[in-house]
Amino acid sequence: MTVEVDVAIVGAGFAGLGLGIRLKRRAADEGTSESFVILERADDVGGTWRDNVYPGVACDIPSHLYSYSFRTKPDWSHVYPSGAELQEYLRECAREEGLLPHLRFGEPVTDARWLADDERWLVTTPVARYRARVLVSAVGRLSEPRIPAIEGIGGFRGRAMHTAAWDDTLPLADARVGLVGTGASAVQLLPELARRARHVTVFQRSAPYVVPRGDRPYSAAELDELTDAAARHSLREQIFWDAESAFPQRLGVPAAIGELRDRARTHRETQVTDPVLRAALTPDYEIGCKRVLLSDDFYPALQRPNVSLEASALQRMDVSTAVAESGARHEVDVLVFATGFHATRPPFADLVTGRAGIRLADRWSDGMRAYASTVVHGFPNLFVLDGPNASLGHNSAVYMIEAQLEYVLGALDHLRASGDPLEIPLEAEDAYVAVIDAAARDTVWLSGCTSWYVDERSGRLALLWPGYAHTFRERNGTFDPAVYRVPVAS
Ligand code: NAP
Repeated sequence: MTVEVDVAIVGAGFAGLGLGIRLKRRAADEGTSESFVILERADDVGGTWRDNVYPGVACDIPSHLYSYSFRTKPDWSHVYPSGAELQEYLRECAREEGLLPHLRFGEPVTDARWLADDERWLVTTPVARYRARVLVSAVGRLSEPRIPAIEGIGGFRGRAMHTAAWDDTLPLADARVGLVGTGASAVQLLPELARRARHVTVFQRSAPYVVPRGDRPYSAAELDELTDAAARHSLREQIFWDAESAFPQRLGVPAAIGELRDRARTHRETQVTDPVLRAALTPDYEIGCKRVLLSDDFYPALQRPNVSLEASALQRMDVSTAVAESGARHEVDVLVFATGFHATRPPFADLVTGRAGIRLADRWSDGMRAYASTVVHGFPNLFVLDGPNASLGHNSAVYMIEAQLEYVLGALDHLRASGDPLEIPLEAEDAYVAVIDAAARDTVWLSGCTSWYVDERSGRLALLWPGYAHTFRERNGTFDPAVYRVPVAS
């Protein structure tokens, strides 16, 4: 079966659903008529928020900003949304915005290739083939769990799981748990794990910077006020510009980064009383180089009698003994990998073949790159959301996605009017990447730590936009056909 569509969207998380909503609303408001499908490998919407259900999962961007500007929600229960609340929000969006007829669940894309003669993408799933004028990758960057190669893991007789594949039925009350990693997922999980498990050993390869979170429920009076759309809008604006004001920290502006360093140090000194433990929890790289974590209960959890810190990496398993790089040995029944995702090498790129038979993964063999952080030379009518240089370390990913949606919608308008496929010339892509690289040079992200923001093959800041969020929108939130007019180099 081959289905003809104008737009094939891959992924039903924030980005894919957001585009679906915009297309539906445009059709209703302006009479545009692109047909579209949203292909989703799982059986529900939600992306990150569907898959990450470990105890304590939440977002560290406030609820009223980490949601669509075109579909605000008056009754967020807390300042920061829990994973479950976000998942419910996305389900509600899909239902109420009329996306269900467009969603194809249980359809993982196994191949997507550009048919030059037809000027169409042929997208294959186990269920159907789609001939689409436009292909939109909305697969996210936190979708493929990364588990480090641990020698001897095959001989481990207990249970091992990644935070993105949490099994809530696993009995923990009598279990000795090894928690591997101290990133955003681990700091959220540890306090819950420590309450449930007999013992937790935290394997910390690098100490994270942690600052206060200050989450709280909204009061009845606030919730009442937030039923007013104008009040929600002004709260959203205030949260957004507060977050923007943190960007000079990432540029290493001395007063700004000094204030952030002080906030993290004061938090550590206030919450960690033992000087030996405090020293082990003190990072040895510049603040902001890795994601700065927000938590009020991570340090207290580490000081519970049933929790111990192993201040080195998990190196190998010797049956049920977890051996750390320090040589220390820890008995464990359960291993939880809070070790992040394949963010710089999206596996989806292996499945996409563009003009002249080039695979996207090969085009990106030195790391991901795109013009306007969205379109790639050699891949006509392909739009990549939340891909290269489109994430932030200081503000909301949803804001960035919305800017990219504007770009895609502008391109769709152009395609409807002009007919010819859109392929970004190599010169334009190179020039854009050069500007990004020059801006990245002065940021704290390239100050010398290892992080998933940086592609280890090229040393490029591949994930993050090295600027303010609002400058991303100014630069990339409007489709400009002029830049496509230069001849396409092969
Ligand atoms: P992550 O940030 O990539 O952290 C992975 C952790 O695993 C790091 O601490 C890393 O140490 C550690 N690690 C890797 N191999 C190890 C080993 N053999 N032994 C010990 N430690 C090891 O992953 P994440 O915490 O899952 O976060 C992934 C993404 O999700 C990030 O963007 C994060 O911000 C996001 N997230 C966001 C929220 C939110 O509230 N917005 C919540 C959860 C996750 P090194 O630092 O030394 O590499």
